[in-house]
Amino acid sequence: MTQRTLVLIKPDAVRRGLVGNVLARFEAKGLTIVALEQRLIDATQADAHYHEHVEKGFYPPLRDFVTSGPLVALVLEGDEAIEVVRAINGATDGRKAAPGTIRGDLSLSNRENLVHGSDSPESAEREIALWFPSLVPA
Ligand code: ADP
Ligand code: MG
Repeated sequence: MTQRTLVLIKPDAVRRGLVGNVLARFEAKGLTIVALEQRLIDATQADAHYHEHVEKGFYPPLRDFVTSGPLVALVLEGDEAIEVVRAINGATDGRKAAPGTIRGDLSLSNRENLVHGSDSPESAEREIALWFPSLVPA
């Protein structure tokens, strides 16, 4: 089933010059870039994106991190794109993520783990509407 998913290439990846490396993996897999924009977000946008995490202990430093510099937001489309992107991203903790995944190859951190991918069709719909409202049919 063709799906769309919201991906963030987080500020650590932008700072480290890994945007091209990350995008190349998604493109090589056969996913289509539907929208893409580099943005510097504020705490309000961070809170809206991570609304399920705002009360958690790890959230304040996560908010500081995702607002610390520009990130790249994009929408990818393809067959089973939500699950496929989560598999390409790898497990949350870069130290535990499998080699071959973005986080497994390029991150040693539980927080600065380079990428975000929507975790369900409901999350993808909500996150695409938050980041790219022009993509939502009227
Ligand atoms: P994922 O991005 O794999 O879906 P979560 O939704 O659980 O992971 O968490 C959102 C983001 O919060 C993670 O990608 C990571 O940047 C950060 N994070 C999650 N858990 C921790 C933690 N225990 N310590 C520090 N940062 C964390
Ligand atoms: Mg998540």
